[in-house]
Amino acid sequence: MENKEKISNVENVVIIGSGPAGYTAAIYAARANLQPLIVTGFNSGGIPGGQLMTTTFVENYPGFPDGVLGPELMDLMKAQAERWGTNLYESDVVSINTNIRPFELKTLEGTIKANSIIIATGASANRLGVINEDKYWSKGISACAICDGATPQFRDEELAVIGGGDSACEEAAYLTKYGSKVHLIVRSEKLRASAAMIDRVKANPKIEIHWNTKVEKANGMEWLERIETIHSQKGKGEINVKGLFYAIGHTPNTKFLDNQLDLDNKGYIACKSGRPETSIEGIFAAGDVVDSEWRQGVTAAGTGCMAALATERWLADKNLAKTIIRETPEPEKKLNSSDFNEEETNEETFDVNAEWQKGSYALRKLYHESTKPILVIFSSPTCGPCHVLKPQLKRVINELKGEVQGIEIDIDKDQNIAKQAGINGTPTVQLFKDKLLKKQWKGVKQRSEFKEAISNIIK
Ligand code: NAP
Repeated sequence: MENKEKISNVENVVIIGSGPAGYTAAIYAARANLQPLIVTGFNSGGIPGGQLMTTTFVENYPGFPDGVLGPELMDLMKAQAERWGTNLYESDVVSINTNIRPFELKTLEGTIKANSIIIATGASANRLGVINEDKYWSKGISACAICDGATPQFRDEELAVIGGGDSACEEAAYLTKYGSKVHLIVRSEKLRASAAMIDRVKANPKIEIHWNTKVEKANGMEWLERIETIHSQKGKGEINVKGLFYAIGHTPNTKFLDNQLDLDNKGYIACKSGRPETSIEGIFAAGDVVDSEWRQGVTAAGTGCMAALATERWLADKNLAKTIIRETPEPEKKLNSSDFNEEETNEETFDVNAEWQKGSYALRKLYHESTKPILVIFSSPTCGPCHVLKPQLKRVINELKGEVQGIEIDIDKDQNIAKQAGINGTPTVQLFKDKLLKKQWKGVKQRSEFKEAISNIIK
């Protein structure tokens, strides 16, 4: 029996995390009329959308015979979840209280109450901790080849990737588009990536594999210039590289749980074998945060589905489900293919008053002609964090009712502009007023940061 009365401010189910597991759970819970709330994550545990946001082509997700860009796949999942009535909350859960019912989840903005929870917080990329890592972080060292590979400093230079899994192989292959040569540094004598990925790497003449090798130290002046290595038999060595990319695996995002749920011996959430139930009744888990073995987009989606179905049954069994009556049985579509392909602004399409334009033509024109502050986002085609940031900036501009104008520069297309602007990673946002650079941000930031800076300039 379902309780049809809406108990105010208690959610049926809060899903924490917005990767394939979180969005699939949301799609199923939303179609069960539970109107789930998904806390997308923001700063902790990577960016909203999860690890696929920092991947190029996903070639093994069923239904996409020609592959699909990771960020595009996540945009599609998000749109599907929203279409069926999922509410999105852009924040991080910092702690949960499992000792009371309904459960309480603390975010940076406040507290959410929920009858059930699905944890789908995934796993975060590891750092290596080589000597001088902090000094050269974002000045040659990066954890995201896909985000930063197109930056001018890496063009036609030798680069290195550490790791022997699918990520390392994918990133090494990707970086050969930009670098003159890529050194793949593997600590053992074998790659653990999939056979297709290994074949791709071995067939690429621009990739040199260094077996049984570890990196100890980064050296250079302002920017990274070389790395010190140690080979298990041959001893110390040096490789001249302008870029060093880590692809050395992940750690599950469970810190906010503060040991309230049982974890397994590797730190992943312990569930009953093959099931989504955690050690606390009413809390379910899915995706990479429970999975140290398979860790695929499709397995995360599968376990997200299981978690939502189990949650639905549990809520019904406990008479806690509040079914939501949708306004229309067939909700309207949220995305169309043109959302992925914004046109570059040219002489004919340029509009001095437009809120958002794209490319160097628009930038040059507005830089000289506009009296308003200009927000420039430097992006690259496969940059997942840029997918997260762009809609945020568009909302800021919209909320400020055209008091500021936005321009997107693809650093792959407009290398010279990126070089002049000193861009060394994407996304980078620069705020200009009267031809002067007023502020710069790197990476994904909250809307409020941009709004505050712009408001300070306008007033
Ligand atoms: P992973 O499979 O865990 O591989 C991590 C790699 O880093 C291993 O080769 C490991 O070496 C190495 N490593 C770990 N710590 C190290 C250290 N301190 N120093 C040097 N090397 C170190 O991680 P992943 O490549 O990120 O892949 C995660 C999951 O995502 C996998 O299931 C993978 O198949 C999947 N994935 C799929 C795709 C795709 O299909 N397109 C792309 C990316 C990832 P050892 O081998 O010696 O342990």
